[in-house]
Formats: sequence, structure tokens, C-alpha cells
Amino acid sequence: AATEGGVSLARIASIRDAEATRFREARPKSEAAFGNGVEGFLDGVPMHWMNDWPTPFPIVVEKARDATITDIDGNKLADFCLGDTGSMFGHSPAPVAKAIRRQARRGLTYMLPSEDVLSLGELLVARFGLPYWQIATTASDANRFALRVARAVTDRPKILVFNGCYHGAVDETMVRLSDGKPINRPGLAGEFRDLTQNTKIVEFNDLPALEAALADGDVACVITEPVLTNCCMVLPEPGFHEGLRAITRRHGTLLLIDETHTISTGPGGYTRKYDLEPDLFVLGKPVAGGVPASVWGMSAELSRRYDAYNLRREPGHSGMGTTLSANPLQFAAMRAVLEEVMTEENYAHMEKLAGRLAKGLEDSIARHELAWHVQRVGARVEFICAPGPLKNGGDAEGAHASGLEAAIHVALVNRGVLIAPFHNMMLISPVTTKKQVDKLIAAFGDIAKALVA
Ligand code: PMP
Repeated sequence: AATEGGVSLARIASIRDAEATRFREARPKSEAAFGNGVEGFLDGVPMHWMNDWPTPFPIVVEKARDATITDIDGNKLADFCLGDTGSMFGHSPAPVAKAIRRQARRGLTYMLPSEDVLSLGELLVARFGLPYWQIATTASDANRFALRVARAVTDRPKILVFNGCYHGAVDETMVRLSDGKPINRPGLAGEFRDLTQNTKIVEFNDLPALEAALADGDVACVITEPVLTNCCMVLPEPGFHEGLRAITRRHGTLLLIDETHTISTGPGGYTRKYDLEPDLFVLGKPVAGGVPASVWGMSAELSRRYDAYNLRREPGHSGMGTTLSANPLQFAAMRAVLEEVMTEENYAHMEKLAGRLAKGLEDSIARHELAWHVQRVGARVEFICAPGPLKNGGDAEGAHASGLEAAIHVALVNRGVLIAPFHNMMLISPVTTKKQVDKLIAAFGDIAKALVA
């Protein structure tokens, strides 16, 4: 019989139906309000991703505190999605809420610096090790601007991405490998350009392919997460990062490390923990505790090259920056995060509970003899409904079990636990409790048992 992740499709369908009914029954108010979408919004939601959750309709949030979400029907969820990382340090961390209150009395945006900037520059340099920073509003924007600088200084048109990557709404990264050939990522709306003209793509962990792709000398920059976290989870093999850095240097190609998700590793991200040496560094999502903000930094050498480029650049708009970027609310919130939230103590708590979660899930998988596996990068844990480890994005695509995963996600919600949609990501925040972790482990075990019954 047909299966997904080793579970029969019939079994998955029956569990999915039963769990959908149970979800609805617990949410009469939400269903009346949002069951058919909301008037005035395209497709009934303010952002179309909200329709992509596997639940019959979106969970309508009344409030979120620490790592708990309460919906308008009064259901409480232990939140392991945490806004898909935007609230990775918990919902409204106290120091951030305080900074927001302080700044609210002083104006929210003025296209000018405030005194918080004086501390912020020092904090960013000390924390991430690069000497020059800019503030933007989303990780997507930060990546776009950083890539522009890379093309400017190298005077090269192309970038290189790894198959399975995600760096936000950055057009030039929307490329995939299909049977070994580069193609535009399937599904892109309104994209008429052939993005493969200026974007090369190879598999993660494939240094010979990288070497070959950079040999022409036309690639400005390699952009990558240190661990691929957007196609399940793919860890770098031993020596991969050393090879990546050596090969990019050899071919005059810059290296952009996007830490937006791998900041789960530690207060300085994966870069600091493993001594990576990027030319450009991007961090978005949680860096201001949920206030939209991102940062991008560059090395001293790159800044010198960019200065030189600017002297020869035609005068005019750089194509970078946005009006609301680097506003005083971002400064205040980001300062609070760097000073009081992204602390060693908080990360120690996150690391410990993430280890507990990974082990609990692994035990369940073994107990139910499922051919699945668990991966982890610091506070970020992923279960994958296929054997592992995965070597690259191509493998990861093959490991995706969307129907099965959707059934599991809804079943988890019905047991009081929320994990990220699209794949199986779970984040531990500084305010996540052991009790919440054990609840997730127990719920997962319960569902695994039902799946194999
Ligand atoms: N970089 C990475 C690694 C991401 O995972 C994401 C979002 N998932 C982004 C960039 C884009 O972030 P945003 O949607 O906040 O712009």
C-alpha cells in the first residue's frame, strides 16, 4: 500500500480527518469569526501564508505571553513555533516590552538616529565580530542589500546558492536544482525572468561542485545559512565550512552567512561558535525581540572596497535602504535584546531543553520503530519523517512528507502544542519550560503510536 514516512496513506487520511474535526470542535468562536476568512482581505487573511497552516482555519490569537499562545476560544498552546523565529526569545520579552514603552513616548520613526545608536554599534561589533553594520527591517531586505554590495565591489553579476536554500523574498535566490539542472523555483508568482541567468546553484556539502561553479570567476557572492534550516535540516559535513571559505577566497568570491535561523546556536550565532569568517553577515527576525528589524554587517576589507566603489559609482540612488529602516523603535528594542535577552544564561537554558526535546523525540521514534530522525542546531530542533542524516537540499526535498506532517501538526495542536508549519521545526525560548517540552514529547509519542497502530 502507498505510504508516506512509512505510514499508510489511508491511516494518515483518517487521522487527519479526525484531528480536523477535533480542532473545529474546540474552536466554535474562532470558526464563526475566521472559518471562512475575513471580509476585506485577499483570500480572507492579511498575509497569504496564514492560509498555509495545516489547521482547517488559522488559530486566532487572543494573546501570547512567554512561550504560550491563547486563542480566542481560550485554548492554550505551548508555542514551539514562536512566530517562525521572530519570537524565538519568547513573546514580548520583558526588557523589550519596557524598551517599547520607553520609546513610545519619544516617537516611533524619524529617519534620524537616537542615542540608543551609540550603544548599538558597539554591541553589534562586540557580539558578531564584524566592524561595520547597517540596520534594515527584514532579513529579506538585509540579504538583498548585502548581495548588492557584493556585486558592486566584485564587479561580478552572479551569486551562488545551495539547493533548498531560503533567504526570504530575495528574487535572485529563488532557484532550485531539478534533475541536476537549475530552474526557477516552482510556483513563483509573476516571475518572467530566468533567474538562473545570474544565479548558480549546487548542492550543499558538495565542495567539488562549488569549486567548479566558481571557477569562471563570475560569482560575486555565495549566500548560505551555516546549516540549512529551511528544507528540513541539513548539517554541514566535517570540513564543509573550511572548504567553502577556502574555495570562495581562492576565486575572489565573497561569502554571506545568513544567521537568521541559526542564531539558535548561541549568542553570536553559528559563526561565532564555529569561527566562520564571512565577508557579510545577516541576521533578521528575532534580533529586536519581535519588532521588525534586521542587521547586516561587513568585514573591514569589504568596507574599504565598498568605499572605493562608491568613489567611482555614478551618483544616484543606491537601490538600498527603506524609509522605516533604522528607526528608534528598532534601536530601543534591539538594544534591549542584545543587552538583556540574548545572554549566555538564556542560551544555556535553551540548549539544555532543546537537548531534552531532541532526545525525547528520538526515543519515541525508536520505540515505535519509525525510520525517522531528529536534527538540532542549538535551540532549534527538527524531526524528519525519513531516515537521516540528510546530505543536501535534494535529499531534503525527497524526505518531505507533507500529508503526514500536516496530520501530525494538527494532532499536536489538539494536544496543546504548536510547532512551525511547512516543516517540523520546534524552537526553545528562554521562557520555555521543562513542562512544555515534556508535553510536546508526550504528544508526539501519542501521535506516533496512533500512526503505527
Ligand atoms: N533568511 C533565512 C535563513 C530565513 O529563514 C528567512 C525566513 N524564514 C529569511 C531570511 C527571511 O526573513 P523575513 O521573512 O523576515 O524577511
